[in-house]
Amino acid sequence: MATHEAGALHAAGHAPAWLLVPDDVNDLLQPLWPVTAYKDADGVLQVGGLPVTEIAAQVGTPAYVIDEADFRGRATIMLGEFQEAFAAPPLAGADVYYAAKALITLGIARWLVEDGLRVDVASGGELAILVRAGMPGERIALHGNNKADRDIETALQAGVGRIMIDSLPEINQVAGIAGRLGVKAKVMLRCSIGVEAHTHEYIATSHEDQKFGLSVADGAGLEAVRRVLARPELELLGVHSHIGSQIFDTNAFALAIHRLVALTATIAHEYGHACPELGLGGGFGVAYTTGHDPLTPRQTAQGMAAAVAKECQAVGIAAPRVSVEPGRAIAAPAGITLYTVGVTKEVSLGGGFQRLYIAVDGGMSDNIRTALYGADYSATLASRRSEAPPRLARIVGQHCESGDIVVKDEYMPADITAGDLVAVPVTGAYCRSMSSNYNAALRPPVVAVKDGAIRTLVRRETLEDLLATDLG
Ligand SMILES: *Cc1c(COP(=O)(O)O)cnc(C)c1O
Repeated sequence: MATHEAGALHAAGHAPAWLLVPDDVNDLLQPLWPVTAYKDADGVLQVGGLPVTEIAAQVGTPAYVIDEADFRGRATIMLGEFQEAFAAPPLAGADVYYAAKALITLGIARWLVEDGLRVDVASGGELAILVRAGMPGERIALHGNNKADRDIETALQAGVGRIMIDSLPEINQVAGIAGRLGVKAKVMLRCSIGVEAHTHEYIATSHEDQKFGLSVADGAGLEAVRRVLARPELELLGVHSHIGSQIFDTNAFALAIHRLVALTATIAHEYGHACPELGLGGGFGVAYTTGHDPLTPRQTAQGMAAAVAKECQAVGIAAPRVSVEPGRAIAAPAGITLYTVGVTKEVSLGGGFQRLYIAVDGGMSDNIRTALYGADYSATLASRRSEAPPRLARIVGQHCESGDIVVKDEYMPADITAGDLVAVPVTGAYCRSMSSNYNAALRPPVVAVKDGAIRTLVRRETLEDLLATDLG
């Protein structure tokens, strides 16, 4: 970017169109908050039956707070809606694989085990957490565009239900390891099918010019089918595609289903192999702000079910069993981040406009999404009521980057000050899991709250943790 005079570009932005001036700056925008969240008469945010002031006193800030009832409720509802939508013939059932990369800890993995979810892992580390938590191998799917031999080996030894083959070389890699171990590996082919959901460029996948999957347009998809069918160590379950993230309409999924079913039909008609499964990926959108209007799990499940039934009938194949892989839609709305306010300052934007900068005790090390994707978030003053007027504010962290922004635009009370608690909703997914030690920051704890009790799932890092791997 060219150098420019300070102010010439940065001063241009005021409140985005979707951000409305609140009638009462104390109000919670309820759809953005976990199910148990509300503010009491003193304006103190409550979640999981606890005031956030109490949570902060016990575990400190910043802290990731997961509403257990919300997380497990969303997981269970997602599973129930998909099971129901795909229950009746001509459909053949559906499985929900929670995408572990959104947020995973041993405690959360145990919720998934108990609640009947399956899980997608994309690394040896995620696999190890699920295995340690007692997730049965057959309920685990292994993803990854560049899998290590040892991860494939661990996965096969754990009896994973499927390995998602991402490239042509991986076919021989998996077959070779399966042969050595004397097992037959169940595989699906991750295909890129030229459908790009309308979302941020960095998180759109399945168009051809990206690293994931076997391009169907290039012929790599069918070449992979031929090679897999020729290897006795492999069993082809079906084809899979993940078309992106933060998807808000069913049209992109309908087009993906059209292409995947066509591919499944080609495999049946030209290679005589009836695939028992069809993988439709994840990416179901959530509301980070009032600017987003997500589909309900029921709308998503029923829309997909109708499309699968219609497309399979059109090409004359029996409907395969379907799998979906939501991560964000289960984890994101269940989590909030609690911060303590430090320095505040008001900056003139010119033309009589002001922006209130509120610095908190975390930042891009605990939530990189704002800096990485330009993601929008919302926030509230969580520890008291305020009678002050709303001010257009920007919540920033304490890292050495001017892009260290947690919430770009939000109206916050003008009297917000050091020591106040701020809560940011919808941080359950891709915040903890993408966190870093930038500036030697100590990663915050992940705590679950339920029925008035706090359970620490992952404790706060200490300086000793930070130095433990530094051999000097
Ligand atoms: C990231 C990912 C998901 C989950 O995406 P969400 O947006 O969290 O639902 C599912 N499947 C695959 C293959 C992924 O890479």
